[in-house]
Amino acid sequence: MEQRRGRRLVLIPLPLQGHINPMLQLAHILHSNGFSITVIHTTFNSPNPSNYPNFNFYSIQDGLSETEYTSDLLNFIIALNIGCVTPFKECLMKMLSDTSEEPIACMISDAMCYFTQSVADSIKLPRIVLRTGGVSSFVAFSAFPFLREKAYLPIQESKLEEPVAELPPLRVKDLPMFNTKEPEKYYELICRFVKETKNSLGVIFNSFEDLESSALKTLSQQFPFPIFPIGPFHKHFPEDSTSSSLSSLISQDQSCISWLDKHKPNSVVYMSFGSLAAITENEFLEIAWGLSNSKIPFLWVVRPGSICGTEWLEALPSGFMENLEGRGHIVKWAPQQEVLAHQAVGAFWTHNGWNSTLESICAGVPMICMPCFTDQKVNARYVTHVWKVGLQLEKGVERKEIEKSIRKLMEENDEGKKIRDRALKLKEDAMLCLKPSGSSCCSLEGLVNYILSL
Ligand code: UDP
Repeated sequence: MEQRRGRRLVLIPLPLQGHINPMLQLAHILHSNGFSITVIHTTFNSPNPSNYPNFNFYSIQDGLSETEYTSDLLNFIIALNIGCVTPFKECLMKMLSDTSEEPIACMISDAMCYFTQSVADSIKLPRIVLRTGGVSSFVAFSAFPFLREKAYLPIQESKLEEPVAELPPLRVKDLPMFNTKEPEKYYELICRFVKETKNSLGVIFNSFEDLESSALKTLSQQFPFPIFPIGPFHKHFPEDSTSSSLSSLISQDQSCISWLDKHKPNSVVYMSFGSLAAITENEFLEIAWGLSNSKIPFLWVVRPGSICGTEWLEALPSGFMENLEGRGHIVKWAPQQEVLAHQAVGAFWTHNGWNSTLESICAGVPMICMPCFTDQKVNARYVTHVWKVGLQLEKGVERKEIEKSIRKLMEENDEGKKIRDRALKLKEDAMLCLKPSGSSCCSLEGLVNYILSL
């Protein structure tokens, strides 16, 4: 059925924190460019519509349970892509049949919601994809069949340090893998999400030309459609208006800011491993002792449930915090963008989720990289070896290396200074691309015209 086209966009986020934030930021960007926004979301991890009075929200019954999600991310994404097909199609058909509403120009789907491509095809609605990760990691994902052909995959323990000659500067251990008992399922999931991205009419990236020019070039040679690097999304607007606190699924502890206010510029290391990564109790203790021994003040996000086998901080030795005499502050969830923008923060110890990586780049804060899975490994390698704005913990989580890395980044020394200087320069580049003739600004103009031409 052919539809009349209007300026209404239907957005479909993957219901995970690192995907909801950029999708809703994109919604703001497009809304301010004259589009009306409808978000179709799952009941699981649904955004709060009252934070977005300018957008419409439709909830679909996904049949997903909290247990299904927390216990197994891989099978959660697969289940979502099966369970959402029918309710999503019914919801769209209802919207299309309502002639009092503005016609839909296109849908913009998270790349991981690959089920939306067949629905889009069946009702002849154009589909554009938002890839919430970086371009360089997407190039690595799209190389999976080739990597298998060349025997890089499945990964062999004995080859972890070897370079992947075709994807410099990645080593075998930097490939975007996921620790699972079902590696074949993971491989198929990646191939499927890349395939359905290729079948779309275009891809939007929360990245910018100067940051990932080489990966953008590679991708444009491989993909038959336009690519729109229009990021960094969260910098399109003044800090507060589209703050990720609006889309935060966990309430952000504002005590971080008053605690940071008491510290000197560039004196605090901020640590967070995002919304999904988990560490062992032993790693948790090594981190705690590394921090304590470094004598550098720290603000640490310990998400409840993120230390395997414990609820929150029970594993800390008794008296640990008291002995620090105010040098450490631990919270369950932080207002991360505000924290990174705070002058007291001198380094970010991160798992290198793409949002965290980009937020750190935009704040000019150098990173200590501790990637856990998938694209985080690629991002960390780019941070340390392409943009050179961070150090990676290469020997696992070990208190001596932690102490050394923190000191290297935070104290006066040549290597640390070079890294800090490059981080400030990269921040400037990130701001330039959003100026009126900057690359992301031009790409956004291209995206708006492209949507209107569909
Ligand atoms: N975040 C936050 N408070 C925290 C930790 C993270 O608001 O204490 C936000 C962060 O700003 C980012 C998102 O959660 O926008 C995490 O996304 P990312 O891609 O870095 O990691 P993921 O959670 O997907 O692993």
